[in-house]
Amino acid sequence: MENDRYPFVNLPLPYSYGALEPFIDEKTMMLHHDRHLAAYIKKLNAALENEPQLQKLSLENLIKSAKHLPEPLKTEIINNAGGVFNHRFFFNGLDPHGFSGFKGKLGEKIREKYGSEENFLKIFTAAAMSVFGSGYAWLVLDGGILKIITSPNQNSPIAAGLCPILNIDVWEHAYYLKHYNLRADYIEDWKKLINANEAEKNYFKCAVKR
Ligand code: MN
Repeated sequence: MENDRYPFVNLPLPYSYGALEPFIDEKTMMLHHDRHLAAYIKKLNAALENEPQLQKLSLENLIKSAKHLPEPLKTEIINNAGGVFNHRFFFNGLDPHGFSGFKGKLGEKIREKYGSEENFLKIFTAAAMSVFGSGYAWLVLDGGILKIITSPNQNSPIAAGLCPILNIDVWEHAYYLKHYNLRADYIEDWKKLINANEAEKNYFKCAVKR
């Protein structure tokens, strides 16, 4: 990942704010990227400002080492480094050209574990619906095994050594302007934007890391 060390900057989205219309609207993307993600970046930089040792760590290593840090640094890093990682991962996982089906090795693994792509998406949707309050649903590789998990707030599965392949942000700020309180409608629209190439790339990175 580019810019994976202090000072963190808000890299532009890999597509225009309106590119995901009509499924995710331009204004939501603008606020989500330029205000929400920007705020996590600003707070993360502020938390690291007087921490020269931590400034040397990559974003992933900050998240992985957060549990060993004293408060209030620990909570600041979990929330804000998590917020940066989770949002970048989410935005990169969306494809303005639309979802084209899981391919290659990941497609094979998904069919092997969940029977079909449809059934996988059904279980993933149920997980995303089950998040109480704010959080994410994820497809991760855990020791070579595909798992669907959820995380509260900005907690990131990489803190627990899980390797992420796909995620959906189900914080209300991700959908409220267009879908109001209807998370299920937002998830249906999100499914039309899954970036299958990015998920496949992530799968390979995870498989190689083991
Ligand atoms: Mn968000």
